[in-house]
Amino acid sequence: MTADSRRYCPKCRRELISRELGGRSRLACAVAECGFVFWDNPVPVVAAIVELEESIVLVRNAWWPKGKFGLLAGYLEPAETAEQGVLREVMEELGLQGTIAEFVGTYPNPGNNQLLLVYYVLIEGEPVLSAELAEIRRLAPEQLRPWPCGSGVALQDWLSKRGYTPELSPV
Ligand SMILES: [Zn+2]
Repeated sequence: MTADSRRYCPKCRRELISRELGGRSRLACAVAECGFVFWDNPVPVVAAIVELEESIVLVRNAWWPKGKFGLLAGYLEPAETAEQGVLREVMEELGLQGTIAEFVGTYPNPGNNQLLLVYYVLIEGEPVLSAELAEIRRLAPEQLRPWPCGSGVALQDWLSKRGYTPELSPV
């Protein structure tokens, strides 16, 4: 949810107004006694740089346009650790049990108000795609063209740590 999509207080249904709180302008309930503030905190999302037989697996979600690929990613379930969540996503989307090789880092994805928790995950075997994936693409590290935002920055970091200097793709 973005700030733009919130116009009414979820507690008392009155209009939200812009208010200066903690050094930022935030949407808050117009009624002081209600006290609701829309903090707009980012949502954690786990993402995986998946390696299969020395190639990196990029995915195209079923609702993405043709030609658009990214890292496998998903939301956490309640009470899950990020490690459990990323391995569950790999199992659900590719049908294979993964192993976490490295925590790559955390990356803001402000366009979607997310914080990405990115892992490097190894898999073995033949992927069986879930209905949520239209297709996957397997690329050697030197063929990867990271996109300059969100999980693409994680991919850039992962590649440069391994001595690659990838060309960036347009967003
Ligand atoms: Zn209210």
